[in-house]
Amino acid sequence: MDSVGSQIVNKDLKYIWHPCSQMMDYEELKPVIIERGQGVNLFSYDGKKYIDVVSSWWCNLLGHCNERISNAVKKQLDTLEHVIFANFSHTKAIELCEELSHVLPEGLEKFCFTDNGSSAIEAAMKMSFQYHYQTGNPQKTRFMALTDAYHGETIGALSVGGVDLYSQIYKPVLLDVIRIQGPDCYRCPYGLNPKDCNARCIEHAKSCFEKWGNNTAAIVIEPLVQAAAGMKIYSPKYLSDLRKLCDEYNVHLIADEIATGYGRTGKMFACDHAEISPDIMCLSKGLTGGYMPMALAITTRKIYDAFYAPYNEGKAFMHSHTYSGNPLACAAALEVLKILEEENVIEKARKKALYFNSQIKDKFSNHKNVGDIRSIGLINAIELVDDRNTKTPFNSNLRTGYQIYKKALEKGVILRPLGDVIYFNPPLIIEKADMDYVIQAAYESMCEILDGK
Ligand SMILES: *Cc1c(COP(=O)(O)O)cnc(C)c1O
Repeated sequence: MDSVGSQIVNKDLKYIWHPCSQMMDYEELKPVIIERGQGVNLFSYDGKKYIDVVSSWWCNLLGHCNERISNAVKKQLDTLEHVIFANFSHTKAIELCEELSHVLPEGLEKFCFTDNGSSAIEAAMKMSFQYHYQTGNPQKTRFMALTDAYHGETIGALSVGGVDLYSQIYKPVLLDVIRIQGPDCYRCPYGLNPKDCNARCIEHAKSCFEKWGNNTAAIVIEPLVQAAAGMKIYSPKYLSDLRKLCDEYNVHLIADEIATGYGRTGKMFACDHAEISPDIMCLSKGLTGGYMPMALAITTRKIYDAFYAPYNEGKAFMHSHTYSGNPLACAAALEVLKILEEENVIEKARKKALYFNSQIKDKFSNHKNVGDIRSIGLINAIELVDDRNTKTPFNSNLRTGYQIYKKALEKGVILRPLGDVIYFNPPLIIEKADMDYVIQAAYESMCEILDGK
């Protein structure tokens, strides 16, 4: 790195507390200062190219500096940057909701804006609790969630999350959530094959609903893909069975589509695979193409109506965020929807996904430490294990995934494994040559660490 570059790095380390990082790691692996982005590529200050195969934390949907989105935001910037959203509105928000309502699962028609994924989950949980309170079920004060779930970092969202890495230390201050043993297709406790298991693992959910359904406001789930848990994928059948349980016990189904929405699974929403509608759907990440922080909690007329009353009845949803409905973010989000439709992005991505997955299988299947390869849409994950016969993980102190991450960085690929799960979740516009390159680089990085060559 040149001296200017290292000066910037030193200033970064002087001031910045990076997210989800042990800052001491940065002594050895310095932060990469990115100067610009184009398509799937990021370019660092010292001129090195990186392929952003994690979509900058899964939000970049259509490439960096996408010309159409950039122009939409620029135009909006010179028109209206922000306005209070209580009693005021603007056409970009209105158009966005109208356009979204055409592609959402049936029945989702009321849009509550927040400014990040976690806050959309918070809004959904509060909305659900208050709905039940105002419709004669004040005893419904609890929430259900799956093991290995991830729903964000704020106290409520962290409470429904089930990944100890993020929540363990905070347990004393978290909500007491009913934890359902979720699907685990790679290490199925029933020893079944996901192709014909008929989602037998719904059993545990059933018994939890029997026990606590009457006291539960909502269950929060990531439909089909538990992303942060290592891109764990489960069947649509499980999802449709959950929908039925929710109906039976008057429990809201909150679908956290923050990571799975916007074509990531090969359909616009993961719920579409199961042909179900949740009572509340949360969106963020792909929503603005990764341009601006914005999120939505979208719900039904039925829930909305339970808050609709003369002011003095005190039934309003008194929830707000300063940046609710930010026009710049809405302009980006609206353009994203137009691009998806006009450029047929999801359909094209589905074709690419077939190629990507088959190449990954060809490359990785035979390696002795590859336990599982799973994929849905352009999401592909490779779970590395110490022993593939017993599915025994590596000792986590080895930080195998992290070592591979560092190797891949040298080769210009941003992998950022989840534990020892290497995954790819690229912008939907990724081309063949880049797929080939990242597969080869990831494979070589893995072999260098695991085989010492
Ligand atoms: C990223 C994510 C969140 C949290 O969104 P933030 O914008 O990071 O707060 C919640 N749920 C899922 C499934 C996510 O992937």
